[in-house]
Amino acid sequence: MKTQCKAVVIGGGIAGCSTLYHLTQEGWTDVVLVERNELTSGTTWHSAAQVTNFGMTQTMVGLKSHSIALYKELAEDTDYPINYHYADGGIRLANTEAQMDGYRQFASMARGMGVEFEVIDAAECARRHPLISTDNLLGGLWDPLDGDIDPAQLCQALARRSRKAGAEVYRDTPVTGLTQKRDDSWIVHTENGDISCEVVVNAGGYRVNEVGAMMGVQHPVTSMEHQYFLTEEIPAIRDADHRMPLLRCPISDYYCRQEKQGLLVGFYEQSCKTWGMDGIDPNFVNALCPDDLDRVTDVLEGAFARMPALMETGIHTVVNGPITYTIDGAPLVGPIPGKRNAYCIIGLRAGVGEGGGHGWLLAQQIVHGEACYDTWVIDPRRFTGHATVELTALKAIEDYQNEFRFHFPHEHRPAGRPMKTTPLTPVLAAEGASFAVVNGWERLDYIKPTADFQETHGFRFNETFDVIAGEVATVQNAVGLTEVNGFNRIELTGRDVHDFLDRMICGHVTRKTGRVGLGYLLNHHGCLKSEATIANLPDGSVWYGSAAASEFHDRDWLISHIRDEEDVRIKTLTNDWTILVLAGPKSRDVLSAVSRDDWSKEAFPWLRVRPTTIGIAPAMVMSVSFSGELAYEIQVPNAHLYAAYLALRQAGEAHGMRLFGTRAVESMRMEKGYLHWKADILTEFDPYETGLERFVKLNKGDFIGRTELIARKEAEERKKRVILRIDARNAPAHAGASVMQNGFVVGTVTSGDWGHRVGANLAYAFVDRSVLSNSDGLTVDILGTAFAAVLETTPLYDPDNLLVRS
Ligand SMILES: Cc1cc2nc3c(=O)[nH]c(=O)nc-3n(C[C@H](O)[C@H](O)[C@H](O)COP(=O)(O)OP(=O)(O)OC[C@H]3O[C@@H](n4cnc5c(N)ncnc54)[C@H](O)[C@@H]3O)c2cc1C
Repeated sequence: MKTQCKAVVIGGGIAGCSTLYHLTQEGWTDVVLVERNELTSGTTWHSAAQVTNFGMTQTMVGLKSHSIALYKELAEDTDYPINYHYADGGIRLANTEAQMDGYRQFASMARGMGVEFEVIDAAECARRHPLISTDNLLGGLWDPLDGDIDPAQLCQALARRSRKAGAEVYRDTPVTGLTQKRDDSWIVHTENGDISCEVVVNAGGYRVNEVGAMMGVQHPVTSMEHQYFLTEEIPAIRDADHRMPLLRCPISDYYCRQEKQGLLVGFYEQSCKTWGMDGIDPNFVNALCPDDLDRVTDVLEGAFARMPALMETGIHTVVNGPITYTIDGAPLVGPIPGKRNAYCIIGLRAGVGEGGGHGWLLAQQIVHGEACYDTWVIDPRRFTGHATVELTALKAIEDYQNEFRFHFPHEHRPAGRPMKTTPLTPVLAAEGASFAVVNGWERLDYIKPTADFQETHGFRFNETFDVIAGEVATVQNAVGLTEVNGFNRIELTGRDVHDFLDRMICGHVTRKTGRVGLGYLLNHHGCLKSEATIANLPDGSVWYGSAAASEFHDRDWLISHIRDEEDVRIKTLTNDWTILVLAGPKSRDVLSAVSRDDWSKEAFPWLRVRPTTIGIAPAMVMSVSFSGELAYEIQVPNAHLYAAYLALRQAGEAHGMRLFGTRAVESMRMEKGYLHWKADILTEFDPYETGLERFVKLNKGDFIGRTELIARKEAEERKKRVILRIDARNAPAHAGASVMQNGFVVGTVTSGDWGHRVGANLAYAFVDRSVLSNSDGLTVDILGTAFAAVLETTPLYDPDNLLVRS
């Protein structure tokens, strides 16, 4: 066994084998996989092993396409062929129009990744899958490449190729401990000796938290028991001239695929069970949980009704095994928060199908620092301090119970709420607030017009349209107040803070006390990493503010770049302070009524910061705006938040002040051309492509990503972010929707919403450069219909920023 190598991957299921293989493909061949037992002896061996192309984001579709292409290539390898039923096709069923809309949206999104799904009606579903009834069925989504694979053969094939490329695989080698050295490299302790390495990867499957504990980490991953059964031969299948397509059913929560001449049917029952929360028997190897088909009778009935043939056949095997879940259903693939040189590929609930793609994206991140797609949807840093064991279990249960019922836009499911709140949460609830969950925080979404107001979730404009219009009108014509909790706020102190920020940010960093500026951080490829508001406080400290979800991501990025000789200290204030946003032409009047300072345009113009008191509450006020109106962000310590709120509410009465929420902000920021991190600000694009050239200062000296950015600038730009005005009144363009021209996909929408002040349906999209010179016949595919779209060259609302400066 080696004692030294570049990377050690812990775990020999699909996650570990795929990572090992892809590390060799990305150029790291001095790599090792250690497995406590045999390869695939965790969950992988008994997987139903379906391999779908379906995903709800382009990153997921792209990584699954990679799996499919790789598995096909492995299956066709004549030296070591493996069983892969490639492209049997699969149908996701639907019995509501809202689900059908979702499928239309996902088809539009997948087209941009070169994947052609089809939305088909009930009769066509039955034509393609002769065993199903069309009762209570509207139609479905057809995935032409759906199939299934032999999971053990797949892992062996990946291990074999890895070994050929120079990697080594050690079986029967349990990892017993991990030690991080002073230089941030690792020692992996195993029962067969130690291995020193630069990088460790946790691919421990349901033992994820045993491996995590070795480095002091509790990962937000829990296991659920999951069952399927295999039937005897079914004559209609035996006699059919094609294999049956796969089925996934959100109506009755099961999936089904052909296995030999019978069926394999798996269930997501409501009375589901977590597994292994209080520890896992060390001898649970190649093992299963006890069968319990009684638990799934609710789901069985639905499956029998859809496929009557099931009632006439016997069951010969039941499989019940642990399957890992996370807080939002997507796995954790990437850097482990708070650690250096440590990565994970865990929480895979569809790991056999996805594993090829996840290992690919992880290996790219390890070797190159970034993957070819923006990987935020699977980034382990997307969950922060709220990710407790108990919350993870509650969300895992909820997710399992809704396995095939995707989230609708603006849908925030109830389990594990409220998790993060401020003193204002119950106050806003009493005001009729509907909340959205942002990084665990309950954030004011909008104020319900009546106590019994219920939103119908779907992909089209709904009854909230007029509610949001009303909130926007208040902000535009008078003044609105909202709470922005969980905004990521890092206090930077020390002699070298501005030099440090100058190196991290690609544009001008203001050093003047009392000033506020916006900056963009690039990665080592010259593409966008983060967006930050930099505020120079009178006491000499600097506040770095960024999106709530970026808390761990930005913290780790900043800390990892502080040089040994630099005097820069970092303290997070995120959980201790909250922002009250006062926005609208009367906001200055309200602020002046609660604070004795001079808030005139001359004394406190746009982009300034100043400490004050709001009534009796201490606060830090910044003159910044995300709505495009005159606005103030009033940052208040949570202990004083209610006092500040009461003062503002009282002062606001004279000016017609009303509460507004994030939905109204979303509409207004689209009109202003403002971007959202991880919606429009992505690692796939540089600041020029994203339309942020005014925030780049190449001649200011060195900064992270500068050389690479210059090289990108000199090469031809591939894409450009544009603003589109779409001729559709029924629905917004959802992220991922395809922009089309002459029958071809020429772009992808990243954000879309109705602009209430300008009365237009707006979207941002990254489009091919050719569209800039010829945008004739441009359309956006919204829920299966092509709507005409025109390019707007400037933001539609107050493009000269007169209002924010007023
Ligand atoms: C009943 C069922 C049906 C499923 N159906 C599908 C499906 O149709 N399609 C699909 O894509 N997915 C399916 N899945 C999910 C899929 O099987 C898993 O997502 C996948 O197998 C997880 O792979 P893994 O490598 O993460 O974990 P595992 O396969 O569990 O591998 C982890 C490995 O780490 C090793 N390990 C742990 N601790 C240590 C240590 N200390 N030292 C060394 N090694 C260690 C373990 O021994 C194990 O071999 C199903 C799962 C179940 C239970």
